[in-house]
Amino acid sequence: MTQKIEVDFGLCESNGVCMGIDPEIFDLDDQDYLHVLQDEVTPENEEHVKEAVRQCPRQAISIKDE
Ligand code: SF4
Repeated sequence: MTQKIEVDFGLCESNGVCMGIDPEIFDLDDQDYLHVLQDEVTPENEEHVKEAVRQCPRQAISIKDE
């Protein structure tokens, strides 16, 4: 089963906490708009993704089973 990262952009306040945890997954552009560069949860990035879910102050990040 594939797991995907989901961000609720209505909740996200672009504070960059997730980007600080893994900038290869989460990126804020010049307009402070968050992009998910790689939305698949892999064995390699899973720990970072879970940390971002835990640390996002807006609880905007979730992991969805596909
Ligand atoms: S940590 Fe949460 S609120 Fe902050 S930029 Fe990432 S998704 Fe948005």
